[in-house]
Amino acid sequence: MKIPFTGGCLCGEIRYECTCEPELMYYCHCTDCRKANGTAFHAGMYMKRAGFQLTSGTIRSFALTADSGRTIIRYFCGHCGAHIYSDKGMETEMISLKAGSLDEPEIFQPDTEIWTMSKVKWATLPDDLKSFIRGPFD
Ligand SMILES: [Zn+2]
Ligand SMILES: [Zn+2]
Repeated sequence: MKIPFTGGCLCGEIRYECTCEPELMYYCHCTDCRKANGTAFHAGMYMKRAGFQLTSGTIRSFALTADSGRTIIRYFCGHCGAHIYSDKGMETEMISLKAGSLDEPEIFQPDTEIWTMSKVKWATLPDDLKSFIRGPFD
């Protein structure tokens, strides 16, 4: 993967740069990700917060207790509403970056899907993904 890589929101107010490779690239089928994204699943890059830097814009956030019982904070552009990343609080080391926000989305090469117990029938993905009924990090 080419480092650094960049991305941002739909309107261009939020911009970021990443200086480390993701540790996991995955799809999340949980109900909260479906609702938050307004589509079948979340395409995420699980990576170190230290490798993620906002380079422009003021990001907004929304916190909710997820299916896992943990509080998930979702970060988005207050202007266009595009989601950028989520985490389990500022004290945690990792974030989940939204692959759809990448400037070069083809660098996203997922090999895992999680929360398949909540997967919708109209979400068709490759058969060879590592699959978890719930979250792998709990
Ligand atoms: Zn925006
Ligand atoms: Zn999820």
